[in-house]
Amino acid sequence: MHNAPAAAERVRDGLQNIPSRMLALVKADRSAGATLAQAPVPTYGPRDVLIRVRAASICGTDLHIYEWDSWAAGRIEPPLIFGHEFCGDVVAVGPEVNAVQVGDYVAAESHIVCNECYECRHGLQHICRRVQIVGVDRPGAFAEYVSIPAQNAWPTNRRFPPRIATIQEPMGNAVHAALSAPLAGSTVTVFGAGPIGLFAIPIARAAGAKKIITVEPSSFRRGLAAIMGSDIIIDPREEAVVHRILEETQGEGGDVVLEMSGNAQAISQGLRALRYGGYASLLGIPAGPVEMDLADGVIFKGATVQGIAGRRMFETWYQTRGFLESGMDLSPIITHEMPLTDFERAFELVRNGQSGKVILYPHGRDAEIDT
Ligand code: NAD
Ligand code: ZN
Repeated sequence: MHNAPAAAERVRDGLQNIPSRMLALVKADRSAGATLAQAPVPTYGPRDVLIRVRAASICGTDLHIYEWDSWAAGRIEPPLIFGHEFCGDVVAVGPEVNAVQVGDYVAAESHIVCNECYECRHGLQHICRRVQIVGVDRPGAFAEYVSIPAQNAWPTNRRFPPRIATIQEPMGNAVHAALSAPLAGSTVTVFGAGPIGLFAIPIARAAGAKKIITVEPSSFRRGLAAIMGSDIIIDPREEAVVHRILEETQGEGGDVVLEMSGNAQAISQGLRALRYGGYASLLGIPAGPVEMDLADGVIFKGATVQGIAGRRMFETWYQTRGFLESGMDLSPIITHEMPLTDFERAFELVRNGQSGKVILYPHGRDAEIDT
């Protein structure tokens, strides 16, 4: 129920310690790079919360924005504070907010949906056609404070440190992709051991996969795939991928493909190495149109191919929380942590692939180690 006096009280309480300016990483103009700048602390509406950001992790999308590729040039309107994977403490709530309170420790669903379109009204908010993405279409979280609708705040148990709380969002992508296929007793092939593919390995295992095969060209990331428990790890530059997967599956092909690279060759190999009647979850985003043998790869096989966008709201978040609370350890995937002021080094690590997840601390590293 709406509780106006209590909510107003919380707003006042929250506002006491909030400065008017903050440090933020800004895409200042239509060119590569980013600028650390002082910016106003965001305002927030009646149904919004203001969050003091404890940790923000870097996603491939942020690298696109940082490097200013053609996708970014077509989508981003500078100046923009970017960053959309984060967690922090709620420091103020709008007067109409009841489910979230000042002091709550939250992560965030970065997709702000309209709740009014055809998809939203069919329970398909993850494919809302009017989605606004934090740090893409509105100010983001590479900053000391960020404001989001209260319905996007995801209360998180404080026993999970900021480095884990912030990765629930990309982990959710992996959970959504993996749990879209029947995994119990299956052979799962993960294409691409970037952070999302790496998350998918223990998720598939926890969901009952018998054998997990990972395909990844980067030796650093193949090492991480081994740590996360992949049974077979293939370097597509050294081995005939389809042949090897068929060999590992008695000539049948794998039951499930989790495509998490966006690489055209990987998509084609994934479908060729799928068994008849198998399942493919396509999450990786190709740079452009992809050619594939639909007849042999999908139609005659009777394959089920599922496009994966974002996270189901909020089933995926409950499943993600469940995996974490059941003890899933994702910490090996977090390879680097640094203050926001070290952003240039952080983006270089993401760019060169000698990293798993890279975490930034807007208020400085030391202050954020303990929750
Ligand atoms: P990433 O770029 O860090 O990982 C991709 C990995 O694929 C890299 O490690 C790369 O070396 C590997 N790769 C390249 N060529 C390959 C090949 N031929 N075979 C196998 N692996 C190959 O990205 P990420 O953050 O882990 O995200 C994975 C993908 O998912 C990206 O394409 C990203 O854009 C996309 N994504 C999609 C959604 C969604 O909602 N659908 C959300 C987030 C990210
Ligand atoms: Zn919608």
